[in-house]
Amino acid sequence: MTTITNGLSVRMEPRIEIGDRESLAASRVLSGQRPADHPGLCCLVTSTTVLSSWTHSRLCAGVVLFFEIIGIMGQTAPSARACPLCFNRLEAHLRGVSDSVTGLHFDILKCSVCGLGITDPAPGQLQAHYAEYYGSRHGVTARICDRRRIAMVTRMAGPGGGRRLLDIGCGEGTFLQAARESGWEVSGTELNSAPARQKGFEVLNSVEECAERGPFDCVTLWHSLEHMPDPAAAIASIRRLLTDDGLILIAVPDFEGLQSKTFGANWLHLDVPRHLYHFTATSIDGMLHRSDFVPVAHWHQEFEYDLMGWWQSALNGVLSTPNVLFDFLSRKKLRGTLMEKMISAVSSPMLSLVSLPLVWVGSVAGQGGTLLVAARTTGRKPSGQSARAATASSV
Ligand SMILES: [Zn+2]
Repeated sequence: MTTITNGLSVRMEPRIEIGDRESLAASRVLSGQRPADHPGLCCLVTSTTVLSSWTHSRLCAGVVLFFEIIGIMGQTAPSARACPLCFNRLEAHLRGVSDSVTGLHFDILKCSVCGLGITDPAPGQLQAHYAEYYGSRHGVTARICDRRRIAMVTRMAGPGGGRRLLDIGCGEGTFLQAARESGWEVSGTELNSAPARQKGFEVLNSVEECAERGPFDCVTLWHSLEHMPDPAAAIASIRRLLTDDGLILIAVPDFEGLQSKTFGANWLHLDVPRHLYHFTATSIDGMLHRSDFVPVAHWHQEFEYDLMGWWQSALNGVLSTPNVLFDFLSRKKLRGTLMEKMISAVSSPMLSLVSLPLVWVGSVAGQGGTLLVAARTTGRKPSGQSARAATASSV
């Protein structure tokens, strides 16, 4: 099915309705897994075709896991009316959230139990929504942010000491650089791999490559999980990449934070449709538990993201064009009228000052713009195999 909105063509994927139990059951059988293991995977497979042989189901699962790790180029995102993490009912939450790049509008559904938000409809071809996505972070704030991230890694996992760290969605490689300087042997994955590779970092393209370099002692996902079509499957595959004493660190926008509650559809960090999911602490912790992780720490602020979240979201509430100042600071294509640009520039210093105490309040209240979760592996080997063997057999 194809819909035309604002002159742009978007292919809409067939949805799995709550009542479509037969399709869900069929997909679970063909994926060879229990329903709670990989619900999103089941929906994705079912939305295309129903297969019958065990061999074919293993192949499909491998293909999906492959894309979960390397990225999402060329994929279509799954769409569902039941929560893909806890299977409970989805309710309408936000309507008409604007994509600052294309001007298309999306709704956000919310799980009635775990609070997970889902962008609806899921975009047909995700690649099209990344054509003008990549900008560049400001050097100073990026370095401050990466130093804090390394401090978190060191606090939770100890110094690198030649151990292996994988950064999924490594961007330009600024965190890889900080981790290397802290003694980690680093690798990354990234859709747009050229910038990090040009800096001399190893940027992997497939889960097979990740497995060959692993097992890893630490895997980080700094604002990348919300972009993945099947985050539960991604977390399960990451578990198999980690050592039995491994650490995973995840940073996502906090869908239950003060910014999200204050600004609703104008919140900068909704970033539809590239953010396919909008996480809460309950939804992330539940997903981690199901993949044999134990959440051990939560943080509620990343200064760079939280500060921008307050002032740009406030501007989004009064200007017709969203993210004017954010796009300028991240060196993306500029949009908006001359008046909107002037208003954004003139008000920026004042809004930044006002936002500072709000960042602090959100952090102290445990409801910041960003949610960070650290989790450890439980020590149980997946399916009784070694990490490397388990990963290889899943692909
Ligand atoms: Zn849920």
